[in-house]
Parts: sequence; structure tokens; C-alpha cells
Amino acid sequence: MTLVEFFRLPVLYSFFPCVFPNGARLLSFTGQCWCCNKDFGGPQPGPHQEFLRGEITHPIPKAYIVHAWAWCKDCDLMTPFHYHIHDDLTMTGRSPKTGEWARWRSRSWKDTVEADLQTFENFIWTSWDYLEDFVLSVFKYFKS
Ligand SMILES: [Zn+2]
Repeated sequence: MTLVEFFRLPVLYSFFPCVFPNGARLLSFTGQCWCCNKDFGGPQPGPHQEFLRGEITHPIPKAYIVHAWAWCKDCDLMTPFHYHIHDDLTMTGRSPKTGEWARWRSRSWKDTVEADLQTFENFIWTSWDYLEDFVLSVFKYFKS
């Protein structure tokens, strides 16, 4: 992916909200630079969203597919994000560490199910530390 190709892609924010048939909603996605952990995308409109681009498709009712790249000027690095986000509030994709297909669940998943909350506000890639725990993502939930 060249920079010219990158800037031809739509900003990822333009695809939100993503609403599942069961009522779950994905309102934003935050990707972090693999090198410096800077956040791109996120729930608030702003210049940082210019640097998280790609597309989100909805080929089957139970999953959205995220294909995105974050461009970090400071590191001169393009970080890819290729994930399936499911209506049970889990995310699947290849582990950057092992290359194997894996499923991740937020730390608050159990609480969320018990509270019967159906909206997750933001899907954040939290990078290497959480991979050890098989928890890659942090959801923030709120009652709609
Ligand atoms: Zn960076």
C-alpha cells in the first residue's frame, strides 16, 4: 500500500455506526501504531481520523469485516488492521504475534452480557501486552 493509495481510501469513520440485526452497535474503531502506540481513529471526529482509512463490509448479518490501515507520520509506518467483528462482541483475526487465527473478547464481556448492554462504543487495538492474556480489545459499553 502506497501513501497515494492510502489517501484514496475513505476514512474509516465514515462507515459508522455499524448496526447488527441483534441490536449490537459498533460506533468506532481505534487502531494503534505498532511502533509508538499512538491512537488513530476513535469516537471523536478530528484530524487523527484522517490517518485511519480502509473499508468495513457486512457480508453476513452476524459479522462486520474491517480492513483498515493506520498511517503514522512520526514512525513512517503503515499498520494494518484486518478483523471480523461479531455480534456476540468478539473479534477474530490473525494474531500479529503467531499468525494463527484467534478470537478475542473484551475484559468487560461477562459484565456486559450480565448487564444486557448491547452497544459497544469503541473497539480499541491495545497491542502486545494484552495478547498474552488473549484479550486484545477493549470495549466501552453504555446503555442506549
Ligand atoms: Zn507511530
